Amino acid sequence: MVGRYAPSPSGDLHLGNLRTALVAWLMARSAGSPFLVRVEDLDRGRSREHFVATQLEDLAALGLDHDGPVMRQSERAPRYDEALARLGRDDRLYECFCTRAEIRQAASAPHGDGPEGAYPGTCRHLSSAARTTHLEAGRRPALRVRADDASFAIEDRLAGTVTATIDDFVVRRADGEHAYNLAVVVDDADQGVQEVVRGDDLLSTTPRQAWLATQLNLTPPASYVHVPLVLGPDGTRLAKRHGAVTLRELLAAGWTDADVLTFIARSIGVDGTPQSAADLVAAWDLAQLPRDPVTLDPATALPPR
Ligand code: GLU
Repeated sequence: MVGRYAPSPSGDLHLGNLRTALVAWLMARSAGSPFLVRVEDLDRGRSREHFVATQLEDLAALGLDHDGPVMRQSERAPRYDEALARLGRDDRLYECFCTRAEIRQAASAPHGDGPEGAYPGTCRHLSSAARTTHLEAGRRPALRVRADDASFAIEDRLAGTVTATIDDFVVRRADGEHAYNLAVVVDDADQGVQEVVRGDDLLSTTPRQAWLATQLNLTPPASYVHVPLVLGPDGTRLAKRHGAVTLRELLAAGWTDADVLTFIARSIGVDGTPQSAADLVAAWDLAQLPRDPVTLDPATALPPR
């Protein structure tokens, strides 16, 4: 099962990201499988070249090695355009002028019958007069894929079978950038990824991605592991505001790479004092991974020597 880790270079990886990366790496390596890394620098506004380098360095420092070249989404626009062209030929695309606020409002209307947070279909049958009005008002359309309320199921090794009604989701943003939900599908298929391990904040969008793969005649990943979130001591999602949470910050606070690895390993149910991720492969067992969000507080945890 070819695995991968696909960070967005919008900051240094924090303990939650490193933990997910470690699980992804262990899933692949414990099965003797290839492990790939992809830089998700699709969002030019938020991506920084500096973080591409530091993220790769931090993965390497913990011993999370990878096979083959690192794929960069910023270099793959022609492939995403091919996918859009195919959807267009299949009459699966339409322009959408809705703002987020308009979608929220329409989706909360009493007659809305789609799944929660789903696009209510406002622009699905836009008249050419309405389209002209939007364009004249300076609005630029996003492109949505027409899913016809298809029902689609994916298999997650923690969450089980997840079935969803697919809404018409954005595949090209109004600013012209390709949408994450398009890129990830094309990339995982082109890289031959068979198992996706990532944070469980993406679980709800996964049926969309797998469904889109089938529309593009691509093979979706066979299995998923959506790893429960890491929380800070205040119970909110771990982030910068919680203090020293990146590898660099922890090293500056006196931890070693091995300390950080040991700390993360305990949080995924593996005891020991690893010097490198390879030392964890034999003991790794997905069944030991906590199914609920875990709280990590490096400030009160002594470096685990
Ligand atoms: N790039 C996404 C992130 O850093 C992960 C996407 C994925 O793994 O599919 O949150």
